[in-house]
Amino acid sequence: MAAPTDVVSLAGITELQGISNEEGTLTVGAGTTHAEVASSAEVRSAIPALADLAEHIGDPQVRNRGTLGGSVAHADPAADYPAALVALGATVVTDRREIDAEDFFQGMFQTPLEEDEIITAVRFPVPEAAAYAKFANPASKYAIAGVFVARGSGGVRVAVTGAASNVFRATGFEEALNGDFSAAALDGLGVGADQMLSDPDAGAAYRAHLVGVMAKRAVEACA
Ligand SMILES: Cc1cc2nc3c(=O)[nH]c(=O)nc-3n(C[C@H](O)[C@H](O)[C@H](O)COP(=O)(O)OP(=O)(O)OC[C@H]3O[C@@H](n4cnc5c(N)ncnc54)[C@H](O)[C@@H]3O)c2cc1C
Repeated sequence: MAAPTDVVSLAGITELQGISNEEGTLTVGAGTTHAEVASSAEVRSAIPALADLAEHIGDPQVRNRGTLGGSVAHADPAADYPAALVALGATVVTDRREIDAEDFFQGMFQTPLEEDEIITAVRFPVPEAAAYAKFANPASKYAIAGVFVARGSGGVRVAVTGAASNVFRATGFEEALNGDFSAAALDGLGVGADQMLSDPDAGAAYRAHLVGVMAKRAVEACA
């Protein structure tokens, strides 16, 4: 989508690498590939849902080249990580500031990053339970609808990717799950089709339906 005259690789910058888990916060360097997140024992033990999410991004070639920082900075509305960042209440750390995930994803391919601003890491609070369920495009594996559910000390958060032009929190689902953390609590609830994307892969009504189904699967997987 961009046509730059020059490309600078960040792959050799060691400060952008690394995964650590300290005092309930998992920090993942922006240069960490999806394959490294998926195979990290640290991630798997702290937030298994994040390792599972990374394991189902694209294909092996994409997972071996694509990075957490690149995915987050790109802010594709069908990318998987934005749902995890928003549901977990993550913080995007750059070379000059810290940005709450909810403030970071501003719209389709839109973020508050300055032109020369580099994401250095993402900090994820470790939840009590979390799971991600996605209905993937069978070719690219991008989310047609993906729902990340996280339960932590501050309650339940539900974030949806792929279905609309930007990642969003399903607050109606959150309220129901805060009262009764079960898939049955979502019976009869849904998201408005008028907010959903419609394209040759899936119409708006179908995407809205998928959001409900994926949310129930994610809640069941949290058990
Ligand atoms: C065939 C295919 C299938 C895919 N399937 C999925 C999928 O199922 N789910 C999914 O979530 N994603 C998917 N992706 C996206 C993929 O996961 C990559 O994350 C994404 O393409 C970004 O790649 P990258 O990390 O190499 O970043 P780049 O392509 O190098 O960069 C992307 C943008 O981010 C900027 N950038 C990169 N790193 C930083 C940084 N540290 N700080 C600031 N800006 C930065 C770059 O300047 C550029 O504007 C797919 C991609 C392809 C090609």
